[in-house]
Amino acid sequence: MSATIPDYIEELKQTGDFLTLSRNNEWHLAAGEFTLNNGTVVTIHDTGVIEFQPATVSSKDVVYSSAVHGNETAPIEICDELIKQIIAGELLLKQRALFIFGNPQSINIGLRFVEENLNRLFNGHHTVEGVPMNNERTRAAKLEQYVSDFFSRGEQGSSRCHYDLHTAIRGSKNEKFAVYPYLHGKPWKKSQLQFLLSCGVNTVLMMKSPATTFSYYSSFVHGADSFTVELGQVKPFGENDMSRFAKTKKTLTALISQDNVDYPEFNADEFELFTVHRTINRTQNEFSFPFSDQAENFTGFAKGELLATDGDTPYYADVQGEAIIFPNANVAIGQRALLTVVPMAIDSNFI
Ligand code: ZN
Repeated sequence: MSATIPDYIEELKQTGDFLTLSRNNEWHLAAGEFTLNNGTVVTIHDTGVIEFQPATVSSKDVVYSSAVHGNETAPIEICDELIKQIIAGELLLKQRALFIFGNPQSINIGLRFVEENLNRLFNGHHTVEGVPMNNERTRAAKLEQYVSDFFSRGEQGSSRCHYDLHTAIRGSKNEKFAVYPYLHGKPWKKSQLQFLLSCGVNTVLMMKSPATTFSYYSSFVHGADSFTVELGQVKPFGENDMSRFAKTKKTLTALISQDNVDYPEFNADEFELFTVHRTINRTQNEFSFPFSDQAENFTGFAKGELLATDGDTPYYADVQGEAIIFPNANVAIGQRALLTVVPMAIDSNFI
């Protein structure tokens, strides 16, 4: 750390308002550090990236990210409140925690992204020969490095987790759901399902292939228990009914402020699990869905029903109950327009 103390430190100590500081410095903020009266060391690595190192020895390294999509406000508000409580000394941490506001400029313009969807750029996809860099590509590369450095400085043997918090563009039959990244054959963890249930998330989508998402990066590269968590539908700042996120906030708070968190006994009946059936990419200019823009995630279709039309190619449901996730007819050509899923049981691949 250089001897220069950034101008913003005194005000940040007083207000704890790291969100506004990040929004006022969209792509860069000088690093800085200070120590709270309770001994917690606060390190600002960059705009939107703040680390808390408790004075006591921790057993978990916890990453909470939000604003990977800038208009997904509810998780930003949750993290903003937690950061303020920690800096004010109202919330004493027992675990190391790294908070990330992924894309401050996209928060300011109230859009999912500025030039490019950040969550399609992780796990090295930010740097592709022949593709010019832009702010989001540079940001994805930096965020990977901050997460990597954070985990590498953890206690030997401590457990790593990363919850990348989102809200979905459209409504969902299952309002909150999580995406469990592809584990390359490693078993899924019931303890993580219990954590998600405690957050109010009982629906989990198990991926079967590598991805470009932030959560896949932390899972694949750092062995973290890592999830993309969708907490409900996108709303503007201040219009979120925060009572609907109370369980989530309570559980996220407990994870970083307690030595251990106890969850109720595992009961498979409490979960709805799905596995990816297929992805449908947009390959033609003419691409459409037969359902309305309001169709909810996890809406199921009867075998033989039309799911999408790509140019002259119709796609029909080929399994009874095939359900739609993240339909978006306006993606760039070559990208995923629709993911479909089918229900799955909790079996021996879960420990
Ligand atoms: Zn999102």
